[in-house]
Amino acid sequence: MPDDRQMPAADSRLARLDAVPRLREEKETLEYMVLSYCRRHHNPSGTVCPNCADFLAYALRRLACCPYGQEKPVCAKCRIHCYKPQYKEVARAVMREEGPRLVLTHPVLAAKHLWYSCTVKAPEKPRNRNRN
Ligand code: SF4
Ligand SMILES: [Zn+2]
Repeated sequence: MPDDRQMPAADSRLARLDAVPRLREEKETLEYMVLSYCRRHHNPSGTVCPNCADFLAYALRRLACCPYGQEKPVCAKCRIHCYKPQYKEVARAVMREEGPRLVLTHPVLAAKHLWYSCTVKAPEKPRNRNRN
Protein backbone atom coordinates (compact mmCIF):
# COMPACT_ATOMS: atom_id res chain seq x y z
CA MET A 1 0.00 0.00 0.00
CA PRO A 2 1.67 3.27 -1.09
CA ASP A 3 1.96 6.09 1.41
CA ASP A 4 0.76 9.64 0.61
CA ARG A 5 4.09 10.72 -0.88
CA GLN A 6 3.86 7.97 -3.49
CA MET A 7 0.20 8.49 -4.35
CA PRO A 8 -0.86 10.72 -7.23
CA ALA A 9 -1.78 14.21 -6.00
CA ALA A 10 -5.50 13.74 -6.74
CA ASP A 11 -5.69 10.57 -4.63
CA SER A 12 -3.87 12.30 -1.84
CA ARG A 13 -6.37 15.19 -1.92
CA LEU A 14 -9.30 12.74 -1.78
CA ALA A 15 -8.07 11.70 1.66
CA ARG A 16 -9.25 15.12 2.91
CA LEU A 17 -12.85 13.93 2.43
CA ASP A 18 -12.37 11.69 5.45
CA ALA A 19 -9.82 13.73 7.36
CA VAL A 20 -11.64 17.11 7.46
CA PRO A 21 -14.97 16.83 9.35
CA ARG A 22 -16.72 19.58 7.37
CA LEU A 23 -15.77 17.96 4.07
CA ARG A 24 -16.81 14.55 5.37
CA GLU A 25 -20.29 15.87 6.19
CA GLU A 26 -20.57 17.54 2.81
CA LYS A 27 -19.51 14.33 1.08
CA GLU A 28 -22.25 12.43 2.91
CA THR A 29 -24.88 14.98 1.85
CA LEU A 30 -23.66 15.02 -1.73
CA GLU A 31 -23.71 11.24 -2.07
CA TYR A 32 -27.17 11.02 -0.52
CA MET A 33 -28.65 13.69 -2.79
CA VAL A 34 -27.13 12.41 -6.04
CA LEU A 35 -28.24 8.85 -5.29
CA SER A 36 -31.76 10.04 -4.51
CA TYR A 37 -31.89 12.20 -7.65
CA CYS A 38 -30.64 9.35 -9.84
CA ARG A 39 -33.12 6.88 -8.35
CA ARG A 40 -36.03 9.12 -9.21
CA HIS A 41 -34.86 10.18 -12.66
CA HIS A 42 -32.68 7.45 -14.12
CA ASN A 43 -32.36 4.23 -12.23
CA PRO A 44 -35.00 3.20 -9.67
CA SER A 45 -33.10 -0.02 -8.91
CA GLY A 46 -30.70 1.94 -6.75
CA THR A 47 -27.39 1.84 -8.57
CA VAL A 48 -26.11 5.18 -9.85
CA CYS A 49 -26.26 5.69 -13.63
CA PRO A 50 -23.03 6.53 -15.51
CA ASN A 51 -23.86 10.24 -15.88
CA CYS A 52 -24.66 10.70 -12.22
CA ALA A 53 -21.60 8.63 -11.26
CA ASP A 54 -19.49 10.95 -13.41
CA PHE A 55 -21.05 14.01 -11.78
CA LEU A 56 -20.58 12.61 -8.27
CA ALA A 57 -16.94 11.74 -8.92
CA TYR A 58 -16.34 15.25 -10.26
CA ALA A 59 -18.15 16.90 -7.33
CA LEU A 60 -16.18 14.84 -4.80
CA ARG A 61 -12.89 15.80 -6.48
CA ARG A 62 -13.87 19.48 -6.31
CA LEU A 63 -14.89 19.05 -2.69
CA ALA A 64 -11.59 17.37 -1.87
CA CYS A 65 -9.76 20.35 -3.36
CA CYS A 66 -11.97 22.98 -1.68
CA PRO A 67 -9.54 25.59 -0.36
CA TYR A 68 -11.84 26.53 2.54
CA GLY A 69 -11.50 23.13 4.21
CA GLN A 70 -13.15 23.16 7.64
CA GLU A 71 -14.47 26.71 7.02
CA LYS A 72 -16.24 25.69 3.83
CA PRO A 73 -19.46 27.66 3.16
CA VAL A 74 -22.31 26.05 1.23
CA CYS A 75 -21.32 26.04 -2.45
CA ALA A 76 -24.27 28.31 -3.36
CA LYS A 77 -22.65 31.11 -1.31
CA CYS A 78 -19.08 30.49 -2.45
CA ARG A 79 -17.07 33.29 -4.06
CA ILE A 80 -14.94 30.90 -6.06
CA HIS A 81 -17.49 28.58 -7.71
CA CYS A 82 -14.99 25.98 -8.77
CA TYR A 83 -17.33 23.83 -10.91
CA LYS A 84 -17.13 23.76 -14.70
CA PRO A 85 -20.33 25.19 -16.25
CA GLN A 86 -21.78 21.84 -17.35
CA TYR A 87 -21.35 20.36 -13.87
CA LYS A 88 -22.66 23.53 -12.25
CA GLU A 89 -25.91 23.02 -14.16
CA VAL A 90 -26.24 19.46 -12.88
CA ALA A 91 -25.47 20.61 -9.34
CA ARG A 92 -28.21 23.25 -9.57
CA ALA A 93 -30.74 20.69 -10.85
CA VAL A 94 -29.90 18.22 -8.08
CA MET A 95 -30.00 20.88 -5.36
CA ARG A 96 -33.23 22.40 -6.65
CA GLU A 97 -35.06 19.08 -6.42
CA GLU A 98 -33.29 17.29 -3.64
CA GLY A 99 -32.86 20.24 -1.28
CA PRO A 100 -36.54 20.49 -0.30
CA ARG A 101 -36.93 16.69 -0.29
CA LEU A 102 -34.03 16.33 2.13
CA VAL A 103 -36.12 17.89 4.91
CA LEU A 104 -38.45 14.88 4.73
CA THR A 105 -36.09 12.08 3.75
CA HIS A 106 -33.02 12.99 5.86
CA PRO A 107 -33.82 15.82 8.29
CA VAL A 108 -30.43 15.58 10.02
CA LEU A 109 -28.54 16.34 6.81
CA ALA A 110 -31.10 19.02 5.94
CA ALA A 111 -30.65 20.70 9.33
CA LYS A 112 -26.87 20.68 8.98
CA HIS A 113 -27.05 22.16 5.51
CA LEU A 114 -29.43 24.88 6.71
CA TRP A 115 -27.17 25.60 9.68
CA TYR A 116 -24.11 26.07 7.47
CA SER A 117 -26.12 28.07 4.97
CA CYS A 118 -27.25 30.51 7.69
CA THR A 119 -24.14 30.70 9.85
CA VAL A 120 -21.04 30.30 7.65
CA LYS A 121 -20.22 33.38 5.64
CA ALA A 122 -18.33 32.82 2.43
CA PRO A 123 -14.80 33.88 3.36
CA GLU A 124 -12.63 35.87 1.01
CA LYS A 125 -10.79 33.68 -1.44
CA PRO A 126 -8.12 32.04 0.69
CA ARG A 127 -4.52 32.55 -0.33
CA ASN A 128 -1.46 30.71 0.94
CA ARG A 129 -3.00 29.48 4.15
CA ASN A 130 -3.48 26.27 6.00
CA ARG A 131 -6.11 24.40 3.97
CA ASN A 132 -7.58 22.36 6.80
S1 SF4 B 1 -17.82 25.85 -5.06
FE1 SF4 B 1 -16.58 26.89 -3.47
S2 SF4 B 1 -17.24 25.96 -1.51
FE2 SF4 B 1 -17.93 24.60 -3.17
S3 SF4 B 1 -16.27 23.09 -3.39
FE3 SF4 B 1 -15.85 24.75 -4.88
S4 SF4 B 1 -14.47 26.16 -3.79
FE4 SF4 B 1 -15.41 24.84 -2.23
ZN1 LIG C 1 -28.49 9.16 -12.82
